[in-house]
Amino acid sequence: MKNRMKKILCLIVCVVSILESFAFSPVDSVNTLMGTASTFDFSHGNTYPAVARPWGMNFWSPQTGENGSGWMYTYAENTIRGFRQTHQPSPWINDYGTFSVMPLSGELQINNRLRGRSFSHANEVAKPYFYQVLFDDGTKVKMTATERGAVFVIKFAEKSRQYVVVDAYNNGSSVSIDTLNNRITGYTKSNCGGVPTNFANYFVVDFDHDIVSFGTRTNDSVMQHSLKAEHFAVQAFAEFNIDTADSLVIRVASSFIGEEQALLNFEREVANRSFADVASATKKEWNEKLGRIRVEGEVIPNSISTFYSCLYRALLFPRMFFEYNTENNPIYYSPYDGKIHSGVMFTDNGFWDTFRAVHPLFTLLYPEITEGVLQSLLNAYDESGFLPEWASPGHRNCMIGNNSISLITDAWQKGFKNIDEQKALKAMLNQALAQGRESSVGRNGHNDYHKLGYVPYPDYPEATAKTLEYAYADWCLATFAKSIDADEVANDYFLKSQNYRNLFDSKLGFMRAKNRRGAWIEPFDATEWGGPFTEGCSWHYTWSVFHDVEGLAQLMGGHSAMAQRLDSVFTAPNTYNYGTYGFPIHEITEMVALNMGQYAHGNQPIQHAIYLYNYLQQPWKTQQRVRDVLVKLYAATPDGYCGDEDNGQTSAWYVFSALGFYPVCPGSAEYVLGSPLFKKATLLLPEGRLFEINAPKNTPENFYIRKALLNGKVFENNYLTHTQILSGGRFDLYMSNQPNKKRGVSIRQLPYSYTSNKKE
Ligand code: CA
Repeated sequence: MKNRMKKILCLIVCVVSILESFAFSPVDSVNTLMGTASTFDFSHGNTYPAVARPWGMNFWSPQTGENGSGWMYTYAENTIRGFRQTHQPSPWINDYGTFSVMPLSGELQINNRLRGRSFSHANEVAKPYFYQVLFDDGTKVKMTATERGAVFVIKFAEKSRQYVVVDAYNNGSSVSIDTLNNRITGYTKSNCGGVPTNFANYFVVDFDHDIVSFGTRTNDSVMQHSLKAEHFAVQAFAEFNIDTADSLVIRVASSFIGEEQALLNFEREVANRSFADVASATKKEWNEKLGRIRVEGEVIPNSISTFYSCLYRALLFPRMFFEYNTENNPIYYSPYDGKIHSGVMFTDNGFWDTFRAVHPLFTLLYPEITEGVLQSLLNAYDESGFLPEWASPGHRNCMIGNNSISLITDAWQKGFKNIDEQKALKAMLNQALAQGRESSVGRNGHNDYHKLGYVPYPDYPEATAKTLEYAYADWCLATFAKSIDADEVANDYFLKSQNYRNLFDSKLGFMRAKNRRGAWIEPFDATEWGGPFTEGCSWHYTWSVFHDVEGLAQLMGGHSAMAQRLDSVFTAPNTYNYGTYGFPIHEITEMVALNMGQYAHGNQPIQHAIYLYNYLQQPWKTQQRVRDVLVKLYAATPDGYCGDEDNGQTSAWYVFSALGFYPVCPGSAEYVLGSPLFKKATLLLPEGRLFEINAPKNTPENFYIRKALLNGKVFENNYLTHTQILSGGRFDLYMSNQPNKKRGVSIRQLPYSYTSNKKE
């Protein structure tokens, strides 16, 4: 009887969970077109509608822009020139290893400038696992993807003149047509830097119908019946003769390792699999990953769609740059030394952006990715002598800082101990004490920084921004060193973590540039972009003291003085001086358009600043401003971001903020409270634990936290620890339309700051 009851109970639980899994399909809420209405001059995200697996080795996107343009897909365009395998993390970094497939009905036009076919957005479906377009000429294309492959279904508009062009792009490419097996194979060496000379992406394009005619094109000359071409830029075409009731299935896979591996990836991921089978497996995969956060009870219309569209963006980068060998073990082509290694490699990430919220999100909900990223950081160190800072796929000369140190320390402090800690410390010290071939790798200005306590200007560009980021990296390094008992290093670097003080002008209350003799650079204009700053001005960088907000507050004259300064960010006029940039860069134009004073949410440096009121005994101001940004500056529409999305960072800000907290200082293992956007959110944590955030009285007006309970007990702190969330439990928030100026205001309740906590 007992057993029978058990069985029945099990059955009920199973049925309920199956029903639930049918009902809950967050991937259907995603709009992959969010952020695509962008141009060089104004970014609403600078994204493209990637069809992919989460962190997939390849993404696939319709291509509206010409070959070579970083604006691969822009919403304003009305022709598509190809369906492109892409690895592009940002239009500013551009693509590598890219090639495209383009079906054509009617006239055979191989040149990408001429072959575009018109479409309208009404005839387009864009999902993470599926893209479909009906061209105006009647040709229909469906596309889905695996981690290393893709499947297309093509319905041609007419029975004759059916073509598929394979464009192997440029920088050295090759195509071969195999009419026996109905395949086009080849490689492309296309890249924009960051690769060894032996770099190539090898591809297999397989057709399920006979190729009836074919040819190649190089340098504007088309060779009918040519089976092979190798040149700077080549294309192949195949002609078909398929009933209009029937369709052509194209299966594609590729490899950075070699031809044989490409075939192995093909066999493993797409061979003999139907379109429906692949699409539904990829859909399931997205639902599993997106479903680790379940939000319910919309307070603001369409915010569930915005939430999952943002979460989708946060789960694309960094990509898995590894493949599986015949024994099913991961191996990869190293973009650092050009050799094949066993193990994993992740790439396409600018840590300057993603250290802030993307990687902290992984530590909480996607630990398998954090594990892989840690391994690949040390692999990159082994293969290149440095930790990466902006990799695509190898080191790129872009942005500033030593945020790789933040990634390692944040993970380590949260319990990711599966690394060689001595090697990690060595790699971190090297990052702080040396510079690579690219000034963004290692530490530009390290000698002067360590000698003077700041990076002097104008000796080094972006010197003040560098100083602030290095001081934070030094705190991360010290925190890591302390935890492995490297006390001497820890003491040294905790001291250096205070170097931000050297560039704070207490008379003006701003971070400024100093020359090497220790004098302030004159004249000073807090609205002047560039020069000693990076894509921002002093208004934005003055808050870049993630690890010691208390120390910064003391420099500013105390908590209420700093809170007033933070208020002034929003009340100052939105004027600018474009400074050394020589013209208003898009980030400037985007700040002006926000009309929120000097607050520039469209770029990363100031994205944490709203949360700093929690350190200043005025948490209600954080709650009000976070809600304001969540509601006003994001939407699941083509113009739905207020600036570059940037590898998931601007999206991860939304994801965390909508849950009600944000990791202001990665490495501290704390999440600072804001204002949740939903009535309920549930985190599915490792080992099946749940963490529920309940805010049943949440409304558009009730964005203030009146009272909080953690697991039923009154909770006064302005932050949650990683352990508190990871243990699972219940966080009950009583929302109100009035600020509670008595909650979270005692010194004990403030988040971590080096100066006040001295926990280390
Ligand atoms: Ca940016």
